[in-house]
Formats: sequence, C-alpha cells, structure tokens
Amino acid sequence: MTILENFSLKNHNTFGVDVSAKYFAEVSSFEELRETLNYSKSQALPTLFLGGGSNILFTKDYEGLVIQLNLKGISEEVLNEEEVLVTAKAGENWHEFVQYCLAKNYGGLENLSLIPGNVGTSPMQNIGAYGTEIKDTFDSCQVLNLETLEMEEFDREKCRFGYRDSIFKQEGRGKYVIVEVTFKLTIKDHVIKTEYGAIQNELKKMGVQNPTIQDVSKAVIHIRQSKLPDPKVIGNAGSFFKNPSIPLSQFLEVQKQHPEIPHYPNGDLVKVPAGWLIEQCGWKGRQIGNVASHELQALVIVNKTGSATGKEIFDFSAMIIDSVKEKFGIELEREVNII
Ligand SMILES: Cc1cc2nc3c(=O)[nH]c(=O)nc-3n(C[C@H](O)[C@H](O)[C@H](O)COP(=O)(O)OP(=O)(O)OC[C@H]3O[C@@H](n4cnc5c(N)ncnc54)[C@H](O)[C@@H]3O)c2cc1C
Repeated sequence: MTILENFSLKNHNTFGVDVSAKYFAEVSSFEELRETLNYSKSQALPTLFLGGGSNILFTKDYEGLVIQLNLKGISEEVLNEEEVLVTAKAGENWHEFVQYCLAKNYGGLENLSLIPGNVGTSPMQNIGAYGTEIKDTFDSCQVLNLETLEMEEFDREKCRFGYRDSIFKQEGRGKYVIVEVTFKLTIKDHVIKTEYGAIQNELKKMGVQNPTIQDVSKAVIHIRQSKLPDPKVIGNAGSFFKNPSIPLSQFLEVQKQHPEIPHYPNGDLVKVPAGWLIEQCGWKGRQIGNVASHELQALVIVNKTGSATGKEIFDFSAMIIDSVKEKFGIELEREVNII
C-alpha cells in the first residue's frame, strides 16, 4: 500500500480543477482496498472514492484520503441460449466495457456507449442516455460495507434506482464502495432501441436500414462526439443539472406564460428539459470569468479557460439555479457530486 501526500487531482477530475488531496492511494486488489481502509480508519481520515472523476466537482482541496479504485477484470456466465451475466470490476472503464460486450455481440448496453467514467460508478446515478439506463440490464453489484468491511450484494430493488439516482447517492452515500457490477445481457434477439434522440437520423446518414447493436453504438458515438464537449479538450462533467420533474398544476401555470415549453409526461409529474430552461434565461454560451455554459448545450458547464477553480464553477451553477428559479419558479438540482 502506497499512500502519497499532497497529491494533485488536476488530472483526476474531468473539470480539470487544480486541487489536491492530503493523501492519495491507488488500489488494485480487494486486499489493498481493505488495507487502505483499515489505515484510514486507524488515522480517522475522511475518505473519498474516485473512479474516472467525470461526475465530481472539487470546490476545495480534499483534507483526507482519496482512494482511486483500479480493480480490473471481466467475467461471464452464460445463463441459457438467450442471456449471459457479465461482471466487471469497479475500475474497468465504462466505454471499454460496453465495447467488450459489443465485440461479443452481447446486447443491452449499446445506447450507453461513450459515457465517461468507470463501471463501479455506473450504479451510483443509474447512468442513462438515449432511452436506456443501467437499471434496464443491471443484475446486481457487490459492495464493501465501510463500517463492517464485509461484502454485501445489492440487487436491483435494493439499489432503489431512479432518474440519475440510487441508494448510493442518497442514504447509502459514503456507506458503501461498489467493487463490481453484474449485467444481464442478451445473446440473441437483441432489443434495438432507436426511437430516442437523433439515433434514427444518424443511422440513415450511415446508410443502415436494419441496425445491429453495433450500429446503434456507432450512431450514439457519432451523435455524442458531435454535440458534447470532449473533457480532454475542455473541462466539463457532462450535464451539470438534472431535468426537473414538476407537478402538473405547476407545469400548467408555467405553460400559460411560456406556451412553447417542451415537456414529457413522467408518471404523475411533468419533466422539463433543464437545458431549455437555462437557454431561455440567456445562459447558453455565456462566459463569466473562467467558466461558461457550453455554446451547443446549455446544460453543460465548462472550464472555459482551463484555469477555473471549483468554487467559480459552483458559483456559476448557483447563478443559473437562481435565474431559472426567478424566471420559471422551477428549482434545478445539480447532477454532479459536489465535494
Ligand atoms: C462529457 C460527459 C458526458 C457525460 N454523459 C453522461 C450521460 O450521458 N449519462 C450519464 O448518466 N452520465 C453522464 N456523464 C456523467 C459521468 O460520466 C457518469 O456519472 C459516470 O458514471 C461517472 O463515473 P466516474 O467513474 O467518472 O465517477 P467519479 O466522478 O469518479 O465519481 C462520482 C461519484 O461517485 C463516487 N464513487 C466513485 N466510485 C465509486 C464506487 N466504486 N463506489 C461508490 N462510490 C463511488 C465518488 O466519490 C463521487 O461522489 C457524463 C460526463 C461527461 C464528462
């Protein structure tokens, strides 16, 4: 176990915020993980787990131990002619894992291609894109209980998945570390989901009439590359806010003032695109100091100059929340984990 001191996290968060961790350790095995946790307990250090750093905003230096989970490995168990269980350790890169499954012609994750981050973090906010969420194919995950240091299994019900949400973001936050995740994928008769977003248009452009799961993945990759900023080029964490769902009565009031407001039914509630609300408040492409709202997607906040502090980014997000609240009476909620 190697514990580094005053470690820069600039290359470990996709915002590229220049903060440091008082202590930092990279763990590659369960034994190392337990050993490192025993050490942090003995020193009474606050502990933070880090995957790819693509959904986190550090607003200050971290005065504890940051543990980068580097557990690797993928295994499979064929259940029958139609289904396979595929298990990946927490430190596997998400997109590479999706591509691994596609190379084996296992279906179910193709719409989630090119989402940054690691497999171990995917249940945290039930990652989703293009009409799919991991809860659709999630079988179970193994977690280490940080109090008892015992392993526990969480099935789908226990994870309490919601829109960009799970038990791990709520009362389970800071209580468990996810060490591996198992998905139940299809071996044949794949369900092809092309109705969401621009997938059908993209497939047409690609000249594909009867798409395979691999075609869907390629279409999703093209779309994402054309509209989302690459964190390697400009610091960001994808969508900064969740799309709010509001009661029908509140929606009807807002709609009276803004008849053109886009909306989707969501059970008893009405979902409104946060990007549209932000754009209507004049934020799209707007820059203040080192921070801006992205010119193609107002929902994405970017470290425009590369020199933004986490506090500046946080303050920028607070201004957006205030102006959306003032104009529409709708409270935006941050999707990104604020540290
Ligand atoms: C360009 C871009 C596009 C994106 N698009 C999408 C999208 O389409 N859909 C979507 O859902 N998300 C999207 N995201 C957000 C992000 O990719 C996902 O939330 C991803 O799952 C984060 O993974 P990570 O490993 O980088 O998490 P990190 O940022 O490292 O961690 C996120 C949180 O999880 C905790 N954590 C990390 N690992 C573990 C673990 N093993 N056990 C317990 N807690 C842990 C951390 O402490 C932190 O609080 C996007 C981000 C970017 C930059």
